[in-house]
Amino acid sequence: MQKCFFCGLNSMIRFGKRDGRQLYKCNSCGRRFIGGNHLIANDVIADYVEHKMILSELSFKYAKSGL
Ligand SMILES: [Zn+2]
Repeated sequence: MQKCFFCGLNSMIRFGKRDGRQLYKCNSCGRRFIGGNHLIANDVIADYVEHKMILSELSFKYAKSGL
């Protein structure tokens, strides 16, 4: 079981496939991941648009993702 790197909980579930890679979703915070370690870019944009996160917050939050 993958750990969610947003909330750190083992709440990841398989969430279908995307581009041939396993997609995961965190039941705790609702984030989606490809292969357990790649973020879906749309989630970054959603944070920016919907949650009005500033760039420094985004870069901190996504620092582990390599985006
Ligand atoms: Zn989570």
